[in-house]
Amino acid sequence: MTAMTLHARGLIHRWRNRLPVTDATPEISLGEGNTPLVELRGPVEARELGIRVFAKYDGTNPTGSFKDRGMTMAVSKALEAGATAIACASTGNTSASAAAYASRAGVECIIILPAGYVAAGKIAQTILMGAKIIQIDGNFDDALRLVRLLCDESPVALVNSVNPYRIEGQKTIAFEVCDELGGAPEYHAMPVGNAGNITAHWKGYTELFADHTISSRPKMIGFQAAGSAPIVLGYPVEKPETIATAIRIGNPASWQQALAARDQSFGVIQAVTDDEILEAYKFLAKEGLFCEPASAASFAGAWRMIKEGTIEPGSRIVCTLTGHGLKDPTTAGKLASLPDAIPATLEAISRAAGV
Ligand SMILES: *Cc1c(COP(=O)(O)O)cnc(C)c1O
Repeated sequence: MTAMTLHARGLIHRWRNRLPVTDATPEISLGEGNTPLVELRGPVEARELGIRVFAKYDGTNPTGSFKDRGMTMAVSKALEAGATAIACASTGNTSASAAAYASRAGVECIIILPAGYVAAGKIAQTILMGAKIIQIDGNFDDALRLVRLLCDESPVALVNSVNPYRIEGQKTIAFEVCDELGGAPEYHAMPVGNAGNITAHWKGYTELFADHTISSRPKMIGFQAAGSAPIVLGYPVEKPETIATAIRIGNPASWQQALAARDQSFGVIQAVTDDEILEAYKFLAKEGLFCEPASAASFAGAWRMIKEGTIEPGSRIVCTLTGHGLKDPTTAGKLASLPDAIPATLEAISRAAGV
């Protein structure tokens, strides 16, 4: 990187004092973080109980998912340490993010993907941003195991969420939420895949609590897809299946940290079915928030808990929407059908529009 290279200013710049960076750390940024916190109009069950539901729309990050929060830190620190290449296993969004930040940093990027299970938008993004993609006949858990071995035996920096700098960057979501709400919400819901993000959310809240910036911490309510719910079941799932490919993970790397976040916050980790995920996905779209299926697991679970009466009336719930809806055009396309073309006349379109 030359002195002339300009990067956008993102979360390292904003949260510098709360992150493990020094003047020697290059700031590889695409302007990530500072994502919208949007209060939902519904659902009606929440309104009736005076429960306020917010979406933290992290799909608006530069590559379309929250992974950018962790990647700006992981790649900046890898560069500081002299790495010339980074690598990761991915269900898609980590790879898109790694490819983007590697390109900004001018280092090589190697990606191991489970063949056939990554949403189309994510693959196209990753390839066009110049990463070297290796597809394997195996699932995400196989890919992560292999890339860890590869990085152990080479000078390539591993940028999966087992990299502690990923968690450091991702914890800033809690900082933003508390900044905007003027304190912590009572609940924070998120999807749980490899469980780095629930770990990061909890770390962020806990740091603010420790220095008295906030006076309470939210209950962490995490949701796995029912066909891919090892933490809920208490044992690894050998063949995880779900429409929510970003959380199709049978043996989460941060399993113990997820349990700690759940227990220390008096929260829960539950399963939501693919049907519940899709219902939430469609509901959120009608609120103007287009997220990918995995992201909708957060709201699906929160919504069910509201209906069950297990959410305290009058409280605030933030649901992290982890990725953008355009990431998975295939799922979106199956739920959205286009009407046939009609004649290009005012009469025909008036009739069709019903006005
Ligand atoms: C990575 C990802 C998740 C899961 O996050 P973990 O940290 O692996 O639990 C959820 N949703 C989306 C869109 C993701 O990209």
